Amino acid sequence: MSVKLLTYPVFTALIALTIGGCQEQTRETGAPEEEEQTTRENNEERPGWSYKGETGPDNWGELDEAYAACANGKEQSPVNIDSAQVEEKEEREDLEINYQSSSFSLANNGHSIQANSAGSENHLVINDEEYELAQFHFHQPSEHLFNSERYEMELHLVHESENGDAAVLGVMIEEGEENDTLSGLWDELPSEETEDDVNLKSPVDLPELLPEDQTTFHYEGSLTTPPCTEEVKWMLFEEPIEMSEDQIQDFKEIYHENHRPVQPLEDREVIKN
Ligand SMILES: [Zn+2]
Repeated sequence: MSVKLLTYPVFTALIALTIGGCQEQTRETGAPEEEEQTTRENNEERPGWSYKGETGPDNWGELDEAYAACANGKEQSPVNIDSAQVEEKEEREDLEINYQSSSFSLANNGHSIQANSAGSENHLVINDEEYELAQFHFHQPSEHLFNSERYEMELHLVHESENGDAAVLGVMIEEGEENDTLSGLWDELPSEETEDDVNLKSPVDLPELLPEDQTTFHYEGSLTTPPCTEEVKWMLFEEPIEMSEDQIQDFKEIYHENHRPVQPLEDREVIKN
């Protein structure tokens, strides 16, 4: 078990988010004890969505009124991070990432593999607002692009504040060394959609999961899945982490191409921190 406090600056210009983020958890995740209920509610009240064809990303906005932001939103995610458009500012505030080795339960939610927090010990502090880690999940290939480059996979760590504001840490994954931090989780990947979460046998050493270099790109975006709710604070690590070819292949056999195409950045700021 290890506890590591990571502190690095974030810009004052980053504005605390208002409501909207809470749906990230309800829709994209669901706490372990709520998962079954959430799944049923989704199936009964909202149409299913997918990553291709008639229920794919091009049509998400038309599948349900509640998904309108997927088509009409002005600050949607993911985006391409273009170095030429990234701003660097002098005035910064502290962003704390308080992670420790923690227990999770695993779900295959029909769109990705998701690890749900068993406790409430992991959080971010941004502009004095605390965001608790609710879950993390994976996309293959990456959803965000760096200078139009797509990575093999992308990890999203989804946090929520008491006010329902959402903040997501994104980590690019490239093929390389085996990722030991995820090897225990990978041994238990549920290949079929799950009704109940499976408790992981061993904890995940979250601080070890993050890249060494703490440089991040910040922008205001949305959920990358229906209902595409906006006012989500995105922080993307510049440095990727690695997973082995076998680990990436294991995930691809369950989910591949579970990514939304990039959305127009328009006049949004991307700030390098
Ligand atoms: Zn995601």
